[in-house]
Order: sequence, then C-alpha cells, then structure tokens
Amino acid sequence: MAEIRRTVIVKLDVTDSDTALLHETIDEYLWACNYVVDDAWQDDFKPTSKTKLHDRTYADVREQTHLQANLVQSARNKAAEAIKGVVERWKQGEQASKPHFTTPSIRYDKRSATFHDDHVSLSTVDGRIDAEYVLPPEGGNPHTTYLRNDDYEVTGATLQYRETTDTFFLHIGTKAEMEAEMPDDSDTEHSTVLGVDLGIEQLAVTSTGKFWSGGYLNHRRREYERIRGDLQRTGTESAHRTIERMGDRETRWVEDYLHRISKAIVQEAIAHNCDRIAFEELIGIRERLPGIKKFHTWAFRRLYDYVAYKADAEGIETTQVGPAYTSQRCSKCGTTLQENRRSQARFCCQKCGYEAHADYNAAKNIGFRLLRAGQKSPHGGATRHLALKSGTLTVNGEYSPAGQ
Ligand SMILES: [Zn+2]
Repeated sequence: MAEIRRTVIVKLDVTDSDTALLHETIDEYLWACNYVVDDAWQDDFKPTSKTKLHDRTYADVREQTHLQANLVQSARNKAAEAIKGVVERWKQGEQASKPHFTTPSIRYDKRSATFHDDHVSLSTVDGRIDAEYVLPPEGGNPHTTYLRNDDYEVTGATLQYRETTDTFFLHIGTKAEMEAEMPDDSDTEHSTVLGVDLGIEQLAVTSTGKFWSGGYLNHRRREYERIRGDLQRTGTESAHRTIERMGDRETRWVEDYLHRISKAIVQEAIAHNCDRIAFEELIGIRERLPGIKKFHTWAFRRLYDYVAYKADAEGIETTQVGPAYTSQRCSKCGTTLQENRRSQARFCCQKCGYEAHADYNAAKNIGFRLLRAGQKSPHGGATRHLALKSGTLTVNGEYSPAGQ
C-alpha cells in the first residue's frame, strides 16, 4: 500500500463582499506571519520552536487581529518554518535574510475550513464565508480524479489570490491509500524525491539506503571479455559467429538484469511516496568516474531509461541533476571538502564527523540537489522532501519520521 498525495487547483467563485473579507483576512494573516518573525528577530539566538513562538506571540496576535485561533496558529507555523529555513542556511555558512511575507496566500486546515463536494467554507476575520468551486465537467481532469473521488481525502488547502486575473484559487491537498496504480497527472505541492547514485562497485544506491552491487554485472562482463578474447585469438569464421551470438545473449542478459533493478528502484520510490526520482547527469560521467568503461556508460543509460519508463507509468517523474560536488559534500551538515571523500567507499565529514558509505552520501546529495533546484524562495508554498532510510528531510533540514 502506498500513500499518494496530490494537489488540485480550484478556482473559487467569490462574491464582491466576500472578496473584500478575504483580502482583509489575507492582510491580517500576513501581518501575523511577519509579527512572529519580527518577534523572533529581537533575539540573537532565533527561536524556531513552534511552541516557543506560540508562547511569545499568540496572545498579541489574537489581540491585534480578528483572526480565528486556527489561522493564528497557521501563520505562526508558516513563520516558524521560514525562520528555521534561514537558521539552517546560516548553519551551512550560507547567506539568508530575515523572511518577509508578501505573497497573498493563507494556509487552511480542516479546522479553519470545511471542504464540501462543490464548495468550501473558509474562516475569515468576520466569521465564515462560502465559496463555490468553479469545476470543469467530469472527465479526465485532476478535479474528477482526486477531488470528486471518495478514495481521496482532503487534507487542507492553501488559498491564493492572483492579482493578474483578480481571482482566488484554492490549492487543495488530497491524500489516498491505495495499491501502486497512480494516475499520471500531477501538480504536486507535496513532493518527495528519491536520490539515486550510479557507480561501478555499487551499480545503484538510493537515498533510502538501498544498494544494488555492480559485482555481478562486472563479473559477467569480465567473463564475457575473457571468452571473447580467447575466441578472437583462434580467428576462425565459426569463432567469429560464436562471438556475435554470445554478444547478443550477453546484451539480453544484461538488459534483463537492468530491467529488474529498474523495477526495484521504482518500487522503492513508490514505497517511500516519492513523486520524483533524481539521477546525476549522465553526460560527462566518463570523465568523472575513474575506471569507468564504455560498458558502464551504456548500462547506466539503459538503467536510467528503464527507470524513467517504468516511473512514468506510475506518475513519477525522473530527472537528471548537475553532478557538482555530490561526492564531496556532506549530506548531513552541507560542508563540501575534497578531503571528505576518504576512499572510494567511505565518506567521512571533516567538519561534523558524519560517516557513511560514499555512494549513499552521494545519493542523498543528488536528491538534495533536485530539492534545492525547486526551492525558489525559503517560504514558497511547496513542501519538498528527500526520502531517507526512515522518514524524510525537507530542504530546510526538518526531519519527519516515516508514516507522517
Ligand atoms: Zn558534515
């Protein structure tokens, strides 16, 4: 059983008086987010704990706004996550400035909003308003597949105002538990990445700590080359035909082996609720990996294609990311040092002492790279995760145990 999360974007039909009310609510909500950040910024050691920030700001925000309790908490959570993101960047020696919220949006949960089949009831600064969904006709659209589907449960939503068209949209999060047979459409706010590192000793290693040894494949290749060498030395017509037959058989065998591994990688992605799989860029890999043979680049390319094909059928996107420093960067603290890579197999961070299999550390960095690539602002709407052995890590370093 896999948990599937999908976001459906729904246009709202809002009356003029309710429009004014929603704008007022957004203004107060953004004010609350910024108030929490300002409060935290008074301290040299910025508090990031939601409980601590709650104790410091809740009463003030309730007093100075007309926001209902759940929206005050929602604003505080949003601010807490942004503060944590900045602190995390500082810890990694990166530049980051104080968060400031201006994007007109509000995060609603099931207490501050009620989701019906064709409309939503939203909490505002003056009671609740109802807004009709503007839905397309039933058919092959996300609204039919997720929103009108009883298998999917609504988890919450983000209200967004688009200035260009003067309209309100609701990004509704939905969730389902089902067999791994996923529709291919995806506009995902909740995105989880599986990182995959390719190599000679370890053919593939995932950020979830699964290893597929390259030993078997390397052994078969060496055997094949030895026999082929012997046959070539005989130089007869029949030896030449034998080489060709062997070559075909060997290719089929290797392809079959790669098919099985690709299937297991996609299963790993499904098991961890990933909607993306990240590989390092295959172009130029021959220059980066010492001891690599033409055979390996061929095998990597095949494996990637098989994964991409199988993942696509499951609604999972497969991409390649830039390879810079994935083997030298510490996946735990972010420090990048050449000395971190102790040997071919061992990674040891000179700064924080983190030790791991070098390819496993690289797989996590590959996943991270895709996460960061998608992270446009520290408090952008999307939540992106990297799938780990147990649980997930956000780009800001927040850890959630498995099953959340
Ligand atoms: Zn480290």
